[in-house]
Amino acid sequence: MVGSFLTRRRFIEAGGSIAATSLIASAGTAAPGQTSGAASVKGQPMPDGVKLPATPPRPRAPDSVGFAIVGLGGYALNQMMPRFKDAKRAHIAAIVSGSPEKLQRVGDAYGIPANARYSYEDYAKLASDKRVDAVYIVLPTGLHADWAIRAFAAGKHVLCEKPMALSSADCERMIAAGKRANRKLMIAYRSHFEPYNLEAMRLMKEKAAGDIRLLRTEQSYRMGPTSPAENWRTSRALAGGGPLEDYGIYGLQSALYLTGEMPESISATTFRPTGDPRFAEIFAHVSSQWRFPSGAVAQLVSSYDSAGINFAEVRGTTGVLSMNPATSYAGQKMQLNGRELTPGDPGVQFVGQIDHFANAVRDGTPILTPGEMGLRDLRLIEAIYESARTGRTVKLAPDAKMRA
Ligand code: NAD
Repeated sequence: MVGSFLTRRRFIEAGGSIAATSLIASAGTAAPGQTSGAASVKGQPMPDGVKLPATPPRPRAPDSVGFAIVGLGGYALNQMMPRFKDAKRAHIAAIVSGSPEKLQRVGDAYGIPANARYSYEDYAKLASDKRVDAVYIVLPTGLHADWAIRAFAAGKHVLCEKPMALSSADCERMIAAGKRANRKLMIAYRSHFEPYNLEAMRLMKEKAAGDIRLLRTEQSYRMGPTSPAENWRTSRALAGGGPLEDYGIYGLQSALYLTGEMPESISATTFRPTGDPRFAEIFAHVSSQWRFPSGAVAQLVSSYDSAGINFAEVRGTTGVLSMNPATSYAGQKMQLNGRELTPGDPGVQFVGQIDHFANAVRDGTPILTPGEMGLRDLRLIEAIYESARTGRTVKLAPDAKMRA
């Protein structure tokens, strides 16, 4: 690893958050290159640094929702699967992976019966597995739509990682499939269950900084040397335009939930250096400027090629709310007019979203982050790329559809 480059893992450990398209077909002032291939599942080796549980967790409630985890990558194994032990009403009932080695090691550690360990080829067999109520899609983004739709076809509820998909058309297909199957669809926007962001939403609603005038968000890190063949995050078919979908989506979400408004227009630029294998198919930076009906403006920047930051700031008529890091796994910092606020432990966000979804499945309670929210966000991403492509300001309807 070259000195100044941060790997994703080291950046996360440092307190940053990475979650951090097809619409981008030829988006941007510099169009991304040709895609390296179609989006298809491919088993991967065990990620670095995984700590498997010493004793298998057990369901805690008689009506606990059984999840099949689809895709045993870094986020599933390092962040989400370990949180199920704290869930009040959810447990891991099955795993789906393309790697026999991971199926065995992870299955043994989590106490998953051998006949609940599925290969991708056996995915459709979930339909007859009564132990599984819901599927959690933690695959590369370009695979979310098809694997969610197949889960609905198997009669399962779906919790899907962010971003929901790579195009609004795919989001619409997913929502329609969920409705047809009469099953729930939730997008795993964890900040809606995280105390700092919840407090920031509350404060902005109460006008703790007065009327909002300016908002800035920045999500960036410097990606180490890689290429689409090595890292799906640089593959257009799996990651769309790159940093905006993966990481900038946190800033996009913040801009919406902190202002409580939808933008009426967006102008944007993208940048893709030539001759850098990291950016053969995706953008290095995406920057956009939004205008809201109230007159407030927002500046959103995301990058895979600049020193790490995860920042949001709202400047109103009477004060400033500043969050840095804003949407990490842990270590959030927030100030209102220079006063440090510590509303709670950010660590609760992971299990918070699992239990929220489980309650929706069992009790029919409304989902705070439904498929419609993911669709709205993909429409905004499409508007950003459309503006960058045409060099024009894009005007938006209140549902984020582009006006002709
Ligand atoms: P990862 O590369 O660590 O894991 C992806 C996994 O998907 C692989 O291990 C493999 O098991 C599987 N896979 C199947 N087909 C694949 C293919 N063709 N190429 C690569 N992997 C393939 O990625 P990740 O960081 O775990 O991200 C997975 C999903 O989780 C993405 O949608 C990402 O946006 C999301 N995510 C969310 C957060 C968050 O904070 N909410 C954080 C990280 C990732």
